[in-house]
Amino acid sequence: LIAYLNGRFAPLAELTVPVLDRGFLFGDGVYEMIPVYGRRPFRLAEHLKRLAASLAAVRIDNPHDEATWSALVLELIARQPFGDQSIYLQVTRGAAYPRNHAIPARATPTVLLFADPLNPPATVLVEQGVAAVGMEDPRWQRCDIKTISLLGNVLARAASVDAAAAETVMFRDGLLTEGSASNIFTVKNGLLLTPAPSNRMLTGITYDVVLELARRHGPPPVIRPVTEAEVRSADELWLTSSSKEILAIVSLDGIPIGNGAPGPIYRRMYGHYQQFKAGEMRP
Ligand code: PLP
Repeated sequence: LIAYLNGRFAPLAELTVPVLDRGFLFGDGVYEMIPVYGRRPFRLAEHLKRLAASLAAVRIDNPHDEATWSALVLELIARQPFGDQSIYLQVTRGAAYPRNHAIPARATPTVLLFADPLNPPATVLVEQGVAAVGMEDPRWQRCDIKTISLLGNVLARAASVDAAAAETVMFRDGLLTEGSASNIFTVKNGLLLTPAPSNRMLTGITYDVVLELARRHGPPPVIRPVTEAEVRSADELWLTSSSKEILAIVSLDGIPIGNGAPGPIYRRMYGHYQQFKAGEMRP
């Protein structure tokens, strides 16, 4: 697999970064994951905009303008032997000595990109849905930044791994935040409910697409705080992310959501999403 590090393309296994890189020492960096279908990046401009926002939020100067980022991503895509890809893009603050929390006056950001084959969720998961567990959100107050400091997400995900479930749905102060690596939607009495973007969650590119599709095809989305009780008594519960697309959560902590199967509104939205993807991919 051909990857990119600081100006050069090379096989991923040959690339190394210094141990003083602040990404390694502090988790001091940000990232993006961009899905690619048939060599066409999905919503690239939106991902690069979110990257720019993450960099600004953590005070790392954006090492490239949007055109340069796009060209880099497209070249990486072209160099892979497969068409459906998951592009991982990471920028850290770079190496600095001595180790010190204070942001160094001068550091050159470390830029890493690599591609993996993209595997959309298996048909059985789309048709049968997945299990999830709930937990109190253990993370910090800036979940809107797509940072590589992911220990809270890692521990949250561990709870669902322990339960052999696909995702952990998190709550803070009795309100839904998001999944460990996804955004969460609920359906109740025909209404599609999801929390508004805030510092308590990452605004997913998929979240935005689902809201666009809901505005276009119905049901009109209601964006407002969603209580834990509403999640647990929902008719439908969905997770969304670039890699998982849209999946129905059919049980939470072992208790069925709705009738324990993907609901009708999920199935419609899944169809709209697949059509939308195909439309974006058409040359
Ligand atoms: N929330 C978190 C914490 C995530 O890690 C992710 C993506 O991995 C998402 C939401 C969904 O974002 P996107 O739809 O851009 O993949």
